[in-house]
Amino acid sequence: MDENCIFCKIVAGEIPSYTVYEDDVVKAFLDISQGTPGHTLVIPKKHVPDLFAYDEDLASAVFSRIPKIARAVKASNPNIKAMNVMNNNGKLAYQSVFHSHFHLVPRYTDDNFKIIFQDNSKKYNHESYTRIQQSIIDHME
Ligand code: AMP
Ligand code: ZN
Repeated sequence: MDENCIFCKIVAGEIPSYTVYEDDVVKAFLDISQGTPGHTLVIPKKHVPDLFAYDEDLASAVFSRIPKIARAVKASNPNIKAMNVMNNNGKLAYQSVFHSHFHLVPRYTDDNFKIIFQDNSKKYNHESYTRIQQSIIDHME
């Protein structure tokens, strides 16, 4: 446990949360911001700051629990048509709590929740794609 971490305090029960699921590995609770109704966070109980700190065992344990939690959130409201699962890593990527977490954001018709995927493909050619591809391959563990 990290004493300065708000999510560790939630895991320890020192701060209340609207918990919807927990077991020995994860805790899932309503995100206080409710980006859309039902917005839920899934966190490992173990303090890890971000995705880069996961080993394969922790990843298997955490990721394997996400679908059933996502299914329950989706089933909780017949108006939920879709869902985004998001994980922000680093301040620049909008991470504000540095205890890793996954956002389950239910999507409704006209919910006004915005995610923008830009298409920059016109700025790329075969050479620039393969340079990036090779650099990632070179750094694979
Ligand atoms: P991120 O910006 O990806 O780090 O997401 C952190 C999320 O934690 C935000 O969506 C906050 O609304 C949420 N949050 C912060 N404090 C609490 C809390 N005490 N209970 C529930 N959610 C929280
Ligand atoms: Zn923590």
